[in-house]
Amino acid sequence: MDVTALIAERLASAVLPSGPPTIQWAGYGRSSKCDGCDLPIHAKQIEDEFDFADGRRIRLHRDCTNEWTKQRLTGCAAPCKNFKRPVGRRSS
Ligand SMILES: [Zn+2]
Repeated sequence: MDVTALIAERLASAVLPSGPPTIQWAGYGRSSKCDGCDLPIHAKQIEDEFDFADGRRIRLHRDCTNEWTKQRLTGCAAPCKNFKRPVGRRSS
């Protein structure tokens, strides 16, 4: 399963939070398990760490962070047929 599908599933089942984090850090990996894809985050990779108001903390690869953030904000996994970028409509 690819990261897009994994993260979509984890957002849907609330394994990954869908709300905004309260604090975010970034640093090099310490071989912790990524909460997005379950692979270790190696020392040469960027590790993003997020704290949430309910006390939860997650760690993600930078790529997984990008995917999680995109899906969290758009509610949509790519490729997404249904997602339409919200645009202002002109009244006419
Ligand atoms: Zn990952």
